[in-house]
Amino acid sequence: MLDFERARLHILDQIKPLPGELVPVGEADGRVLAEDLVSSVDLPPFDYSAMDGYAVQAADFSGEGPWRLPVTLEQRAGGVAQRLGAASAARIFTGAALPEGADSVIMQEDAELSDAAVTFRAAPRRGSHVRRRGEDLARGAVALTRGTRLNPFRLGLAAALDRAEVLVARRPRVALLCTGDELRDAGSPARPGSIPDSNGPSLAALARRAGADVRRLPRTSDDLAETRAALRQALAECDVLLSVGGVSVGDHDVVKQALEAEGVKLDFWKVKIKPGKPLAFGRRDDVWVLGLPGNPVSAQLTLCLFGLPLLRALQGDAQALPAISQVRLGAAIAQKPGRLGFYRARLENGVAFAHDNQASGAPTSMAQADVLIMVPAESSGVAAGASVSALRLDDL
Ligand code: AMP
Ligand code: MG
Repeated sequence: MLDFERARLHILDQIKPLPGELVPVGEADGRVLAEDLVSSVDLPPFDYSAMDGYAVQAADFSGEGPWRLPVTLEQRAGGVAQRLGAASAARIFTGAALPEGADSVIMQEDAELSDAAVTFRAAPRRGSHVRRRGEDLARGAVALTRGTRLNPFRLGLAAALDRAEVLVARRPRVALLCTGDELRDAGSPARPGSIPDSNGPSLAALARRAGADVRRLPRTSDDLAETRAALRQALAECDVLLSVGGVSVGDHDVVKQALEAEGVKLDFWKVKIKPGKPLAFGRRDDVWVLGLPGNPVSAQLTLCLFGLPLLRALQGDAQALPAISQVRLGAAIAQKPGRLGFYRARLENGVAFAHDNQASGAPTSMAQADVLIMVPAESSGVAAGASVSALRLDDL
């Protein structure tokens, strides 16, 4: 059996990012930059007023106030910067270019307009309420580095830097195959012994969250020929093949055999984690293959712990692995030493309580959890009140 960290590094070390593609900035949310986003402009692009008020020259405010200046021009947002003469003021609005000759803005609340002239009781500080060209980011500076996953704030910045498109890694194409004679679509008529396929929708959603383009294949039964045919077609059309179920040692677990028969080189089979032990990883040419166990919690966990980092690494994501944080444990956890345990727990006021049912077939444990508590393989448990390592489900 392989250690968790060794197994994961073994996967991540092999991955090379997929090629980049240009996408419109408005469609780039969640995509990973395949270029350093270098600013080709100054941000802001010109000096402008941060207030509605009057643009003036600070040097005109000598001696004792108040000061009265004629208002000789109006500068609106979107207009070309005009020229302001000495000893005069420009009516100006938020976002308008600062007139040439002006160096400060006085907000209108501090001014009194009468007869085309304006009176100020206080002199401006030079540069007040003026946003300087390039003060946020100078042209040529790196705004965001390659490997950064774009979010609404970051794509807003890209647009502010006048970019219509950004170069991002292509989305990995994932083919998802669920196997098992007992499975049917949720909501379809039940046959005796059948259960709804809950992994299909759940795992597809997880992979999409990690940036993949997911295609769910028609489910196959526990039949070698049928499974081989489905795998053969999927392998021709995807970057990552995810199979679910049938990788254990039962008589009807045909997936491992089918994968190998289709030319997939499998790297390992057992990882020292609980739940989720039977896990297959391999490749055929450029296609990565993960054979996930069928138990819903094991399937979700192994996809989150191995598959999603793999998908992120394929996108060149600099943060392929989720952050580990520390939380306080509200009630003790006992463990039989041997495998790194991932215990589903909910947080109450920041304190973690493990779910009662930690069975790998119990989907409530994941659905009602906020965090996965990590208990080291050699440990026989953790006492209440102890600080433990945890992964937030939302970060997975
Ligand atoms: P397997 O890995 O095929 O031995 O399946 C282990 C357990 O997970 C069995 O109880 C299966 O019925 C269940 N299972 C397998 N695939 C799914 C699925 N797609 N949705 C829900 N349960 C599943
Ligand atoms: Mg099965």
